[in-house]
Amino acid sequence: MDELRALLDQTASLAAEFYETLDERPVYPRAGLDELRAGLGGALPETPTDARTVIAELAAAADPGLVAEPSGRYFGFVIGGTVPAALAADWLTTTWDQNAGLYVGSPAASVVEEVAGAWLIELLGLPADATFGFVTGGQMAHFTALAAARHHVLKNAGWDVERDGLTGSPRIRVVVGERRHGTVDRALRMLGLGAPTDVIPSDANGRMLAELLRLTDEPTIVCAQAGDVNTGAFDPFHTVADARDGAPNAWLHVDGAFGLWASAVPSLRHLTDGAERADSWAVDAHKWLNVPYDNGVAFTVHPDSHRGAFSARAAYLVFDDETRDELDWNPEHSRRARGFTVYAAIRALGRAGIQEIVERCCAHARRFADGLAELGAEVLNDVELNQVLFRFPDDEQTTRVLQAVQEEGSSWMGGTTWNGRPAIRISVSNWQTSDADVERTLAVYAGQLAAR
Ligand SMILES: *Cc1c(COP(=O)(O)O)cnc(C)c1O
Repeated sequence: MDELRALLDQTASLAAEFYETLDERPVYPRAGLDELRAGLGGALPETPTDARTVIAELAAAADPGLVAEPSGRYFGFVIGGTVPAALAADWLTTTWDQNAGLYVGSPAASVVEEVAGAWLIELLGLPADATFGFVTGGQMAHFTALAAARHHVLKNAGWDVERDGLTGSPRIRVVVGERRHGTVDRALRMLGLGAPTDVIPSDANGRMLAELLRLTDEPTIVCAQAGDVNTGAFDPFHTVADARDGAPNAWLHVDGAFGLWASAVPSLRHLTDGAERADSWAVDAHKWLNVPYDNGVAFTVHPDSHRGAFSARAAYLVFDDETRDELDWNPEHSRRARGFTVYAAIRALGRAGIQEIVERCCAHARRFADGLAELGAEVLNDVELNQVLFRFPDDEQTTRVLQAVQEEGSSWMGGTTWNGRPAIRISVSNWQTSDADVERTLAVYAGQLAAR
C-alpha cells in the first residue's frame, strides 16, 4: 500500500506539472514522428518493470508529443478543456473502476448518471421526461439516438428491426442538411441505413434551407443541426419540426454536439428555438461542459424505442425495475462510469458557471472576429456563437499566415476549405481562455501579417 501511495503521489505531481507548464509549452508539440517512436517504441518487454519507473518514463517520453489541448489558446476543431472538479472526478472514476453497465455493477454510478442526466435535461431545456444514455461522444450519441429512430419508424411501418434486421425491411428515407457533421453519415453507415437519401442545401452561413423539406408518408429520419463546426450556424428548428409534424412517420434528430449548450444560456437561447421539439438529440460533454474525454450524451423522448434498440436480458444479468441499468440506454455493455465527471462539473460550476463559460467563449469569438477584421481578414460567418471562420484577401496569404501562426507556437487553430477556398477556423470552447489569450493570439496574427 505504501508503494501504491507513492505511485499515486508521483502521478499527482506529474499531472500538476503538466498543468503548471500548460501556459508556456508550444500549443502544438515540436516532436516529430521519429522522435516519438524512438522515445516510446522498443521491443516487447519480456520482464516486469516497476510501476513508478514505467510512469516516469512514459510521462517523459510522451511529453514532447503532447498537444496542449487543455490550454486556453487551443482553438482547433471544437475542443473543450477540463474543469478541475471534472479532472479529479475522472481520477476517482478510474480508481473506483466501476463497471457501469448494470445497477448491480455499481449502484453509485447508476444513481449519479440518473442525477447528472436529469440535470443535463434541465440545463439544455429538453423535455423533462427525456431518456438518456452516456456514451463516448457525439459520434456514438448519433449512433444511439438514430438506432432508437430506426427502431421507431420501422415499428410504425409494421417491421421489427431488432428481430428481422434490415433485409427486406421498408426503406427509411434519411434527410440531412448539406452542412451536417460527418459523424451523422458514419452513424447511418453503422446502422445499415447507407448514405442519406436527401441532402437539403444550406444558406451562406451553413443553415439548412428547411423550407425545401418535402416529407412524405415513408418512414423518415430528419437530421438537423445546432451549431455548424465551421460557422456555428443553427438550422431553423421550428420549420423542420413543422415538416416532421406534417409527416405521419418521421423522427427528428438534432446534432447539438456543442451548439445545444446555447439552450443553457438566456442570452443565446433564441438560437436553439424549436430544438426542444425534436425526437432525439446528441450532445457532447467533453466540448463545452469541459469534462475530460470521452463523454457525450444521447437523449430521446421515446423510451420504448430507445430501450427497444438496446435493452438486453440474459439469465446471469440482474435487473430491477426500480433502478437505472445503463446498458438499456446505450450500445455498450461493460463500460466506464461516465456520469461522475459530468456530475462533478455541473456541481462545481452550477448553472451560473456554465452560462458564464458559454457566454465568455462567445464574447472571445466576437473579439477575434473584430480584431481579425481590423487586420484585414474577411470574416466569413455570422459570429453568433463560439466559431470564427475567416480568410485573408488572397488564398496564398491565408495558407501562409495560418502556417506561421501554428509554427509560432503560442496558439493553435486549424484550416478548412470554405466554398472552395482556404479558410481558418477558430473555436473558443475552453473554460480557461482569457482576454489575454485572445489578445496574445491577435498580436501573433498582426506580427505575421506585418512580416511580409
Ligand atoms: C464534435 C462534433 C461531433 C462529433 O462528436 P465527437 O464527440 O467528436 O464524437 C458531431 N457533430 C458536431 C456538430 C460536432 O461539433
